[in-house]
Amino acid sequence: MMSKASVTGRGAVLLGKYVACDGFDKARPLRVVTHIHSDHLLGLRQSLRKCEVVVMTPATRDLIDVMRSPLFLMRGDVKTLDYGEPFVYDDERLTLHLADHILGAAQVLVEDNEGVRILYTGDFRFPGTPVVEADVVVIEATYGNSSRVRHFREDVEDILVSLVEESLMRGPVFVFGYNGKLQEVIEILHKAKVGVPFVMPEKVFHICKVCERYGMRFGRRLLLSQDERAQTMLSRGEPCVAFYHMNSRRRVGENGVRIFVSGWEFREACRRRAENEFTIALSDHSDFHGLLRYVEESKPKMVFTDNYRSGDAIALAKEIQRRLDIPAKPLPP
Ligand SMILES: [Zn+2]
Repeated sequence: MMSKASVTGRGAVLLGKYVACDGFDKARPLRVVTHIHSDHLLGLRQSLRKCEVVVMTPATRDLIDVMRSPLFLMRGDVKTLDYGEPFVYDDERLTLHLADHILGAAQVLVEDNEGVRILYTGDFRFPGTPVVEADVVVIEATYGNSSRVRHFREDVEDILVSLVEESLMRGPVFVFGYNGKLQEVIEILHKAKVGVPFVMPEKVFHICKVCERYGMRFGRRLLLSQDERAQTMLSRGEPCVAFYHMNSRRRVGENGVRIFVSGWEFREACRRRAENEFTIALSDHSDFHGLLRYVEESKPKMVFTDNYRSGDAIALAKEIQRRLDIPAKPLPP
C-alpha cells in the first residue's frame, strides 16, 4: 500500500505506476491537472512537452485556454475526461470524479491491476464533494490543523449580500478573491438580484464566460473595466461592484468599500479589517472536521496528507491516526 502513492519534493502527486497529478514527474507518462489554481499547475509546460498524455476535465481545459492562451495546451497531447469517464493506460484505469471546489475541479482515482483503488482528492469542499471509496487516499491538508474549524452557523452568503447592498449606498464596492471564488461571488450576487453593473478586468470576464458555458449564471450586467462606462462610474464613485484577483488588491479599489473573500477566517463570517475593509469567510476548502469525515467515509487502509502545498499535513496525519485509527503519513516528509 505504501508504494502505491506518493507526493514528490516538486509537488507531483503520484498514483499507481503511471500517473502524476498537479506536478511534473519525468518517470510518469500521464499527467493529470485537477484544477486551475496555480499550485496545481506546477511544471505543466514540461508535462505538455514530455508526457504522453495530459488529462483534465473539459472545463479545466477551457479555463486554461483563457488564463494562458489557446496555444498553450496545443504544445502537448491533451485528453479531456468527463467525470466518471474511464481512461485505460496499460494495466491501470483512471477516472476523474467531481470535487466541489471551483469549476472543473476533479478528484483522481486510479485502479491498478491488483484491484487496489488509489485516490487523490485534489482541493475540495466537504460536505458538497461526493466521497470516493479507496484503499489508499492522498488528501489535501489546507485546513488540516484541528483549530481550523468554522464554528459560525450564520449563512455566509446572506451576510455577503447584505454587506454588498449596504456598502453600495456609499459608492462602488471592490471584491477581491481567487479565480473561481470570484465567479462564485458574482453568481451569489446575481441570484440575490443585486441590481448594479458588475465590473471586471478582461481575464476575470473571460473566466466568467467559460463558467457560463458550464451552467453558471451571472446575468447581463458584466462590464469590462476598460469600458468607458465602467471607467466613468468608478471615477465618479457611482454604485457598482468591481471584481479583481486577490493579487490586484494593492493596486485598485482605494475609493470604495473593499471586501476580501477568503477561507482563512475561522472566528466570524464577516470581519472588519479597517474602516472600509472587510473579510468574508467564504471557503472553497473543507475545514478540519470535513477532512476527517471525508477520510472516514472513504474507508482507506492508508492515507497520505499533502505536505507540499500550504496547510498542515503533519497535524492532519496525526489526527487521522489518533481519531480514526487509520495509518497516515505526511508526504513529502
Ligand atoms: Zn484550489
